[in-house]
Amino acid sequence: LQEDPDFWNDHNVQVLVRTRPVSNSESVGAGFTRCVRQDSAHTITWLGQPETRFTFDHVAGESITQEDIFRVAGSPMVDNCLRGYNSCMFAYGQTGSGKTHTMLGDIDDLDCHPSHQRGVTPRIFEYLFATIQQEVILREQEHLRFVCKCSFLEIYNEHITDLLDPSSTNLHIREDAKTGVYVENLKEVEVKSVHDVVQLLIQGASNRRVAATNMNRESSRSHSVFACSVESKWESNSLTNIRFGRLNLVDLAGSERQKSSGAEGDRLKEAANINKSLSTLGLVIMILVDVANGKERHIPYRDSKLTFLLQDSLGGNSKTTIIATISPSNVNALETLSTLKFAQRAK
Ligand code: ADP
Ligand code: MG
Repeated sequence: LQEDPDFWNDHNVQVLVRTRPVSNSESVGAGFTRCVRQDSAHTITWLGQPETRFTFDHVAGESITQEDIFRVAGSPMVDNCLRGYNSCMFAYGQTGSGKTHTMLGDIDDLDCHPSHQRGVTPRIFEYLFATIQQEVILREQEHLRFVCKCSFLEIYNEHITDLLDPSSTNLHIREDAKTGVYVENLKEVEVKSVHDVVQLLIQGASNRRVAATNMNRESSRSHSVFACSVESKWESNSLTNIRFGRLNLVDLAGSERQKSSGAEGDRLKEAANINKSLSTLGLVIMILVDVANGKERHIPYRDSKLTFLLQDSLGGNSKTTIIATISPSNVNALETLSTLKFAQRAK
């Protein structure tokens, strides 16, 4: 897995496929077979019928570490943000394929000693605050200052809940001519250190768990969006300069087909909504690639809460990274194929 100094280059969408290691339960017994084979840093072959080879910007095999993923896909987001651009990172894949592991790592480990298994999100903020600290010293004469604010929300069944204030449910997305798209009444918390961010991550993850339990549903059926806006201000030639960049880190709902057979009423609607928001995201990203290639097309941001909410961070000058996580086990072959196809369409 190579670091790429021109990570996004002239494409604004990068796709990385990550295969998780074989789990203990998969490796017991004699029946285990693999459903994928990595051929190079860019290609992976699905071993079903017919065998199918896929090419991506990056293919990360089982030996790729959390640190590697951060270096390749995380650090460019921070650099981009400090240059004043928005970006989104999405983890897409079936439940159990490694989305949360990649984005967050083990939440119970985050607090005390940062473990090697911590995910891309805590690492992004370690790098962000280290860079900010350096810049502030280097550019002391310019009185460079930063303000970072975070929010954390969940979208379930097309309803938005504030994970930093779970009594705030059913929030509305608004659009302002000047400031763009925002979620009304969403709590935004200023953060000054990695520790501050980790506290918010823990608080949000725990609220997410409680909400899922109370409503008797799996958290795998909701999307979570952790966002940070970074404002920098500095003086030059007796002018004040302001720059604004935004990071969006999205752990998507499990991509496995939500069964609608036998479901009725709310369950049926829920299954349809989950499928709809993931397919709208796929469609929006696919159209953005076309638009970047000079085609003129309508982008259906408003067809789902997730894409509407992220409208200002998808397309235009914004950068998008998709990390598609897959299981190597033959038991999951069809879901793995479906994830590879989704990731392929984003190219
Ligand atoms: P998801 O969020 O997609 O449902 P998880 O991130 O919870 O999946 O991963 C399922 C299990 O597999 C977890 O126990 C996680 O620690 C483990 N896992 C996933 N990816 C990796 C990886 N790259 N290396 C080691 N363990 C992993
Ligand atoms: Mg998860």
